[in-house]
Amino acid sequence: MLGLQFYVCDRCDAVHSGVEEPPACARCGDGRFANITTAVQGDSYFTRASAPER
Ligand SMILES: [Zn+2]
Repeated sequence: MLGLQFYVCDRCDAVHSGVEEPPACARCGDGRFANITTAVQGDSYFTRASAPER
């Protein structure tokens, strides 16, 4: 995943991924994002959200 970055929208919390920050949120159109790449890679952000409870 060379250069892939993850961004979360400041307004609606939609997560975007790409090699650079998107110009605007695809969901709400806001243009402010927080870079969560290190949090995603260091933690199990997506795994936790989609993993079935046992
Ligand atoms: Zn948004």
